[in-house]
Amino acid sequence: MKKRNVMEKKIGTEMEQRKGRRLVLFPLPLQGHINPMLQLADILHSKGFSITIIHTNFNSPNPSHYPNFTFHSIPDGLSESEASASDPVLLLKLLNAKCLEPFRDCLVKLLSDVSEEPISCLISDAIFYFTRAVADSLKLPRIVLRTGGVSSFVIFAAFPLLRERGYLPIQDSQLEKPVEELPPLKVKDLPVVNADDPEAFYEVVAGLVNETKASSGVIWNSYEDLEQSALVTLGKEFPIPIFPVGPFHKHCSASSSSSFLTQDQNSISWLDKQAPKSVIYASFGSIAALNEAEFLEIAWGLANSKQPFLWVVRPGLVRGSEWLEPLPSGFLETLNGRGHIIKWAPQQDVLAHPAVGAFWTHNGWNSTLESICEGVPMICMPCFGDQKVNSKYVSHVWKVGLQLESGLKREEIEGTIRRLMVEKEGEDIRDRISELKEKANLCLQQGGTSRQSLDSLVSHISKLELFTFKSQ
Ligand code: UDP
Repeated sequence: MKKRNVMEKKIGTEMEQRKGRRLVLFPLPLQGHINPMLQLADILHSKGFSITIIHTNFNSPNPSHYPNFTFHSIPDGLSESEASASDPVLLLKLLNAKCLEPFRDCLVKLLSDVSEEPISCLISDAIFYFTRAVADSLKLPRIVLRTGGVSSFVIFAAFPLLRERGYLPIQDSQLEKPVEELPPLKVKDLPVVNADDPEAFYEVVAGLVNETKASSGVIWNSYEDLEQSALVTLGKEFPIPIFPVGPFHKHCSASSSSSFLTQDQNSISWLDKQAPKSVIYASFGSIAALNEAEFLEIAWGLANSKQPFLWVVRPGLVRGSEWLEPLPSGFLETLNGRGHIIKWAPQQDVLAHPAVGAFWTHNGWNSTLESICEGVPMICMPCFGDQKVNSKYVSHVWKVGLQLESGLKREEIEGTIRRLMVEKEGEDIRDRISELKEKANLCLQQGGTSRQSLDSLVSHISKLELFTFKSQ
């Protein structure tokens, strides 16, 4: 007891000392980026830092959900058509170009405001690569948050080599060719966004990789036991401090309040009525889009599987449709309540629900990690970018899911659901993902790797402070 009091006093004093230290965080305005950045903000706030968020007007977070943080909005200069562009690479390039000046102006104001606490460092989304030049010019240390997995980042870092050896740009005739340097990947698993304009994607990836390398440290929403070998590779190639402190959402008990769309809470009451581990939860994140034929194959695959399903059909998921118009009339009625379709889910709560037995996912990194943390096996349907690498790791490295291999065909979908939900293969997969879930829990406990890494991050920031305050 006495020891605990001394410990608590020590932590209290350290937090006291950190009062008066401010961190400026700059999230990329996309759902899969803003969620982890605001979770990280919560974690660092709990460590005694004051938090200031600079955000774009486009997809801005709701400050009223975060009364402890200060928010500053910057004009991003995106036109309506640019903001709704269906090409994510174009959007990233525009954001990097158009945010530069307003971001710089905002940061200069914050740095010169003597009525506020001094700023220790900037924590920028790694895809906002322009922030490196701005931070350097203001002599402000810059740490980056990479919201994707470490394994896929290692692949991004290898792009120059992959281009030199002819794996990239991807040729249709080589899809099944193994990438000898990066097992178990095949050419078809390499990240692509818009196959018609690969150069634009390479440019963004180069910005991401080079300016991460030039940062004062990189924070990962991942944990050592999950991505150990990628972390070792990264450590050899990137001579900067590396902090795997994830899974972020498990540090804080409150579930995400940074959702742009309203999360349908009735889905939880619907799940309450289903048998344990019987439901397939299907959701493909905030950006992926499908054509009508793919959408219908998914609908029939789910219907024919005979399992109950909760399906997120985000408005805009089907290109050219508002919402569910392509479904045959009476589709849901014929299922007698076995299927429930919603526009957006409280995903972390859904995955933690005892009725959920599988997650049919596009393997965005957040969805992948959230599934692992709840021990829910996956059906993988990667669409673009790092999702393909994540999916390969889920199905072939961690072996905690099955990848749909031959495009979207209702028979394959039905068969894959059966393999996962009914057959012995599914039991083995379930056992393996339970182990990963257990490791995720352990890494956050006292002495766990992510807890230690978080402590290192806090002391790293304190050392950067010395540098900043001398030069301010
Ligand atoms: N999400 C959600 N409700 C949904 C679908 C997704 O709250 O119906 C959240 C999910 O929990 C995750 C994020 O949105 O945190 C999606 O990020 P991810 O990296 O998986 O995919 P992206 O949207 O970036 O493709």
